[in-house]
Amino acid sequence: MHITMLGLGAMGSRMTRRLIATGEHDITVWNRTAEATRPLVEAGAVAAPTPAAATAQSDLVISMLRDVEAGRSVWLDPDVGALTSIAPGTLAVDCSTVTPTFSRELAACCAQRGAEFLDAPVLGSRPQADAGTLIFLAGGDLAVLHRIEPVLRQVGGAVHHMGPAGAGTQMKLLTNSLFAVQVATVAELIAALHGTDLDPGRAIEALAATPVTGPAIATAATAMLGDTFPAAFPIELVAKDLEYATADAAARRATVPSTRTTTDTYRRAINHGHRNDHITGVIKLFRTFPPAGSTGTPGRRGEADPPAREARPDR
Ligand code: NAP
Repeated sequence: MHITMLGLGAMGSRMTRRLIATGEHDITVWNRTAEATRPLVEAGAVAAPTPAAATAQSDLVISMLRDVEAGRSVWLDPDVGALTSIAPGTLAVDCSTVTPTFSRELAACCAQRGAEFLDAPVLGSRPQADAGTLIFLAGGDLAVLHRIEPVLRQVGGAVHHMGPAGAGTQMKLLTNSLFAVQVATVAELIAALHGTDLDPGRAIEALAATPVTGPAIATAATAMLGDTFPAAFPIELVAKDLEYATADAAARRATVPSTRTTTDTYRRAINHGHRNDHITGVIKLFRTFPPAGSTGTPGRRGEADPPAREARPDR
């Protein structure tokens, strides 16, 4: 297959590496910042100067871009967008986390050009992308999904068909909202143990052994005991996903109060300078003490906002 990868950030570059490693495909790559193509060209891919140039000869075009704005410019730009050159019969797969509305819009634009479209955002982060264990949540025609499932399985460990175009994205926002709400809740509860006789490490150990906590939350909780939060799933992307989820719900007049509150929590984390921390770095908002074994100043105030600020309109 001739496969094009559009977007070579943390996730897209890893997914591309796995496809190159199979030795089965001709791979063309494009990235807004051209520098990112270099290591993949060294690994065997061919770089193209624009999304349109990257797409022209492809059987399958996969995008892994930051957000709706990026997707709109890369796919739909009237001069150099991927859809200006896509051939009828080509399969377009957007793995980015966007909105269901945008996924449906892309599906319609592809249909106008005789191309097939799937939204197929992924569960899993950088380690899962490296290991090829991402989970695809696909929306679109099931027969089309079956056609490319062997390729998706070279990048991921599971492929779930969720419904028509947009349903994969809908499921992705649901899953990320649930995860982000739980991580923020665990963060505040661990931090709130300060001053009690219950050791946070022991609490997490016990919690992880109960049915109350899933494995991803147990892993996140354990990571919160440390002092640093190197980005895998950065807080800025968490906030972006939650903002998409709340806007999507609002458009249907669905009420999602927990998701909305959690969106504000991650926005506050960004305002406190934690944009590039891993999702678990949200605990820094709630800590009023340094973590065990850290070099932080004992007794520092931490970053929890004082109660008097709770009603501030900017929060
Ligand atoms: P990333 O490292 O920030 O990469 C973002 C990619 O989008 C880069 O290729 C970037 O190009 C490109 N981009 C951003 N704005 C653009 C624009 N206006 N026009 C063209 N290209 C643009 O993000 P990532 O971690 O790979 O995530 C990619 C997608 O997967 C996001 O939707 C994210 O929510 C989702 N996701 C992430 C994770 C995770 O753990 N990181 C897990 C699952 C899903 P430049 O290199 O030029 O900036």
